[in-house]
Amino acid sequence: MARLVILGGGESGVGTAILGIKEGFEVFVSDKGEIKEEYKQVLEHFEIEWESGKHTEAKILDADIVMKSPGIPDKVALVKQLVKTGIPVISEIEFASKYTNATLIGITGSNGKTTTTMLTHHLLKEGGLKAGMAGNIGDSFAKMVADQDWEEYVLEISSFQLDGIVDFKPKIAIITNITPDHLDRYDYKFENYIASKFRIAMNQDQYDYLIYDADDAVITAWLEKHPVQSKLLPFSLREKQKEGAWLDKDIIKLNVEHKTLEMSTDILALEGQHNVKNTMAAGLAALLVNVRKETIRKSIQSFQGVPHRLEKVLKINHVEYVNDSKATNVNATYYALDGIKKPIVWIVGGVDKGNDYAELMPLVREKVKAIICLGMDNSKLKEAFGNVIELMVETYSMEEAVKVAYKISERGDSVLLSPACASFDLFENYEDRGNQFKTAIKNL
Ligand code: ADP
Repeated sequence: MARLVILGGGESGVGTAILGIKEGFEVFVSDKGEIKEEYKQVLEHFEIEWESGKHTEAKILDADIVMKSPGIPDKVALVKQLVKTGIPVISEIEFASKYTNATLIGITGSNGKTTTTMLTHHLLKEGGLKAGMAGNIGDSFAKMVADQDWEEYVLEISSFQLDGIVDFKPKIAIITNITPDHLDRYDYKFENYIASKFRIAMNQDQYDYLIYDADDAVITAWLEKHPVQSKLLPFSLREKQKEGAWLDKDIIKLNVEHKTLEMSTDILALEGQHNVKNTMAAGLAALLVNVRKETIRKSIQSFQGVPHRLEKVLKINHVEYVNDSKATNVNATYYALDGIKKPIVWIVGGVDKGNDYAELMPLVREKVKAIICLGMDNSKLKEAFGNVIELMVETYSMEEAVKVAYKISERGDSVLLSPACASFDLFENYEDRGNQFKTAIKNL
């Protein structure tokens, strides 16, 4: 019996363990941190051996194959040792993809993965396909493959998952965009991070498709230097494409494999230029798996978006409140500021991952009437915008920030939480931050 060792007892680790048992492996799960109670129970239920709070090397180094959870960096001594010993160290999507014949749609990028994944899944489901959705969203891919096989999978894939692939080969790959993120895991080299994202296409052949943002200079420059086998389907807000998607005034045009589809941007329930792009990517994928045009149109119209991503919360005294807590980097916030057409009271701040705010300056000058800083350390924000925006207030809790926003906003304004930063200084995570925002608004 082959021995499968799993490092990390979270969603992807436990999912892999379940699939591993089902496929006849001897499975051992090891987590140096604390495994959550619910996962411990699942492991017990399947009679899977596990340890928590330590890594017993002897039990790990005799593996035939190791699945490393995406949260564990390659630099960890144990991982290095495994690699040196010649034991294959793979990711969960690599492992799970061996046990399904489903059509795989893999979605990666710096921003927009979740939105595009959910929208694509929505289009496929409405089109009557038996499609599952997994990856960074909800259940792990491995668990879904173990539970019930689907005909298509729409997978949200991080660069960490891609670092651990060998044969993973999606029929359709989407790269939404690439901007610097997580550079601490890539030796602070942007090119390493780009290379990691492009691994999504590394096993694709000429019968597979790569959908990508043609307006993203990082992507196009990389493709020029590192051609891929896949058929290229670019999408663009600026230029007509031979095949792919583009914008013609207010009409989104898709053209792929002799299928065309046109729809007005007016029908989009989601706002913002970035969501036009996400819609193009999802629409192309849906056409490729033969969802009917009329269904695509209708389903795009009915898609209500994802919480914490430019989510409209409430209107109070003709001021709208928008929750974009998931904007944890400058690029995501750029699209929020760009997308909102009203004067903005902007709640921003948190843990800055090396932000350069220069990119936001034109939008801030044009639209932002007040800045409410919400973070332990707001010095960089003050430095960047202190001379540009007259009204700048520092706050240290969401309740306080929302109260200040309520006071200074006027009829016709938009209060936007789009922090451009991580949330760990004052909140558990971005969901907690967004939920506190919503609660504070409801308590006004
Ligand atoms: P991810 O899963 O890649 O983090 P999300 O869909 O959760 O992406 O969106 C994260 C943030 O980025 C949100 O603030 C959202 O409004 C913004 N966003 C969504 N799509 C895009 C895009 N195509 N380009 C830039 N920003 C985007």
